[in-house]
Amino acid sequence: MSPEQALLRVVHCLDRMHDTGFRAKAFVRALDVVRSTPADELAARAADETLTDLDGIGASSARVITEALRGETPAYLTKLEGESQVSITPDGERYRAALRGDCHLHSTWSDGGALIEDMAATAMALGHEYMVLTDHSARLTIAHGLSEERLLAQLEVIAGINDDITTAGHDFRILTGMEVDILEDGTLDLADELLARLDVVVASVHSKLRMERQQMTERMVLAVASPHVDILGHCTGRMIGKRPPSTFDADFVFAACAQFGTAVEINCRPERLDPPRELIDLAIEYGCWFSIDTDAHATGQLEWQPHGCDRAAERDVPIERIINTMPAADLLAWTAA
Ligand SMILES: [Zn+2]
Ligand SMILES: [Zn+2]
Repeated sequence: MSPEQALLRVVHCLDRMHDTGFRAKAFVRALDVVRSTPADELAARAADETLTDLDGIGASSARVITEALRGETPAYLTKLEGESQVSITPDGERYRAALRGDCHLHSTWSDGGALIEDMAATAMALGHEYMVLTDHSARLTIAHGLSEERLLAQLEVIAGINDDITTAGHDFRILTGMEVDILEDGTLDLADELLARLDVVVASVHSKLRMERQQMTERMVLAVASPHVDILGHCTGRMIGKRPPSTFDADFVFAACAQFGTAVEINCRPERLDPPRELIDLAIEYGCWFSIDTDAHATGQLEWQPHGCDRAAERDVPIERIINTMPAADLLAWTAA
């Protein structure tokens, strides 16, 4: 294991345990430093114990680098691997085993912390057959949302990475997509012709979350009814303990999801776990499709599907109604329909 690989794995473990504090930032910084420092300089500094003279390398990261250079698995990494395991119930495991991909995740192109290639490598290691890259749309400026030009550039980059993946002999594919903002009037933050080019479109409300009930209902129903929208992302917008769910008439919204073939996302982020239980029950009653997605913003977070699987198992979501249990070809046929 190289120092870079060791630090990447440390960052991965910290991400999957949702550590967003000083420690995680310090290791991300150390990873950057290692990537931009020549290998022979790293080795020389490890030998004479001057790694910490490098700006961004602290005592902990220096130890990880030194142990990796010695050919050892860094002790800190071993400890972290154990502490950061994502648990799953036996019932949830049945759902997790059925999943073939992840339909909502971000990269450094918007507000994610990892490269598309790193997200893809992790998704492959998790046994996925595909992942849908859904960076934010332009309106979400705080998340560095993609303009039309950047989206088009991203589509070319994805095609190149997919070629590399195929050449390397992997049976894995990055599907194109976007997490497009549902604007206040229910229209979408991307032109129809571009939405039509994407494999999978997640539509989410990120602004004016406190909108009055009737207006919010109309806004969401309109988005759900768009022929381009495949998945309704984190429908209530709640942040557990921080932000209450938006108010809307869930009967109308889920009836529309069922009618227009838009899947209701079961968002796996621990601070979201959206929709809440009673809304999952209602969506089941309406015969909705579902998608169990991580909304990962880092490689470690791709391991969060168990959270949504446990919740789906608890509410008895029909497995055959979960779109990411489909092979890629079937999913593409489903989104195109
Ligand atoms: Zn979102
Ligand atoms: Zn997202």
